[in-house]
Amino acid sequence: MNEIPQNVLMPSMSSAPLEAKETDLCIVGGGMSGVCAAIAAARNGARVILVQDRPVLGGNASSEVRMWICGALGRFYKESGLLEEIQLLNVYRNPGLKYSIWDTVLYEKVRAEPNIELILNAAVCEVRTEAERITAVKAWHLTRQRWLEIKAAIFMDCSGDSILRFSGARYRWGREGTLAYGEAQGREIPDRKTMGNSLLLQAREIDPAQHVPFVPPFFARKLGEDHPRAKLFKPTGDNFWWIEIGGEQDTIADADVIRDELYSIAYGVWDFIKNHPDGRGHGWELEWIGALPGKRENVRYVGGTTLTQQDIEAQGKFEDTIAYGGWTMDDHPTQAFEYAGAETTHHAAPSPYGIPYGVLYSENIENLMVAGRNLSATHMAMSSTRVMGTCALLGQAAGTAAALALGRGLSPRQVAAHRVELQNRLMDQDQWLPGLRRVLPDLTERAQVSGDKVLGDLAALRDGRERRLPDGDHWVQVEDGGFWNFVGRRRFGWNVCAWWFTAIFMM
Ligand SMILES: Cc1cc2nc3c(=O)[nH]c(=O)nc-3n(C[C@H](O)[C@H](O)[C@H](O)COP(=O)(O)OP(=O)(O)OC[C@H]3O[C@@H](n4cnc5c(N)ncnc54)[C@H](O)[C@@H]3O)c2cc1C
Repeated sequence: MNEIPQNVLMPSMSSAPLEAKETDLCIVGGGMSGVCAAIAAARNGARVILVQDRPVLGGNASSEVRMWICGALGRFYKESGLLEEIQLLNVYRNPGLKYSIWDTVLYEKVRAEPNIELILNAAVCEVRTEAERITAVKAWHLTRQRWLEIKAAIFMDCSGDSILRFSGARYRWGREGTLAYGEAQGREIPDRKTMGNSLLLQAREIDPAQHVPFVPPFFARKLGEDHPRAKLFKPTGDNFWWIEIGGEQDTIADADVIRDELYSIAYGVWDFIKNHPDGRGHGWELEWIGALPGKRENVRYVGGTTLTQQDIEAQGKFEDTIAYGGWTMDDHPTQAFEYAGAETTHHAAPSPYGIPYGVLYSENIENLMVAGRNLSATHMAMSSTRVMGTCALLGQAAGTAAALALGRGLSPRQVAAHRVELQNRLMDQDQWLPGLRRVLPDLTERAQVSGDKVLGDLAALRDGRERRLPDGDHWVQVEDGGFWNFVGRRRFGWNVCAWWFTAIFMM
């Protein structure tokens, strides 16, 4: 008989190999906020480890969940910066806009940064602290079956679920009372209720003559015409985001119970549609159903500043604006799928409104930063900032601020005193900020453009506002044969803003 050592027969998880790592910035969570934070920090000189528990990047925007990226409303306020850069690469690599290829576009953008070590399939599950600082996090690597211990000077929580709150960082959960923040939509009595989780579906229109039968699994819920949301049970190319529950449960602790119920509802809704006697589902088939519910809301950190409904309504005119939002305060009812009223209420918000730096660092853990839906905001404010275009801007701002802190030996809180430098750096790196003007480099100020080929006002090119705004264009158009000849493109006319101008001259 072969003798097998006891510890091979009965290994314990704690005896699994441990790989120690050390870096400047450790970012937990690779959704749109984490991806943009990592790229921004890396490009600004920080060594970054990005730990993501899934095999793909993108969080709710990934092929695993499939939410589309929304952001500030209005034709003038599309997010620029890293998000736009990623989206442009996506159009180039992935003209059919397929989700799985989008995953690899995000992967490509992160892998292209030499300063980023990307760790996929590893879940951060332990956090070590010493004197109000995080010293290390521990992650379990699912595919390599080992522990990773990551030490860093700054940690950033982009996990959505705020896993680093176990450091003792202050946080809030639920809807604030009016007494606390005086918000018009605040609750008379604060509660722990939130928006819920959703499992998305994708249906595909097919030739109605082509019969594709659908037999529901045993766990599909039987839904009738009397269900409060029955009016929505129609075939659509939309993603059924209103199949939502969990707002009156705990969207973290009860996540699996919620998922099982979502499966049952999602298949029940599709059974209702597909097998309806009026034939509404004949020309459709179920193309895809998610397995990973997207979470809308749970833990939000308490930061240096807490963004409120009033701040948003007053257009967020902060001295330390580092990002902007412009989606409505899109607040879902907590009863969600069982609620007879509207699936959501869009409380008006101006677009754009500024978001201050203070929402990006923990009030009490000295080296903890945050970006994404878990920023320091009330429930009402977060119901607007949660959209992924805004999360991406917050990520770029947080990553840039972290690099600035590391470069100067500052804490995240101390970066607040260097806000002008942070703002200028962000604008130099194509993150537009409402109400601010980019200080143009001398090179751009001095650059000459061959006059007869330029449409527009050169003063507008150099006024530092850098996009089309309601009061006019802050760029010039350069016709074929004009400035663009300089870089060898002859055929097209181009809109050139000062940012492009600088970037091209520096190439
Ligand atoms: C159903 C639904 C519909 C929505 N509709 C829209 C919409 O139409 N448009 C829009 O813009 N926004 C929409 N939102 C909101 C938006 O998707 C979220 O607010 C946004 O994804 C938050 O971004 P994030 O980067 O903070 O987190 P996430 O996108 O959640 O990314 C966080 C990532 O961190 C990972 N992670 C978590 N814990 C750990 C850990 N311990 N270790 C390592 N990694 C970890 C997660 O797996 C995830 O990939 C919707 C949300 C939901 C749920």
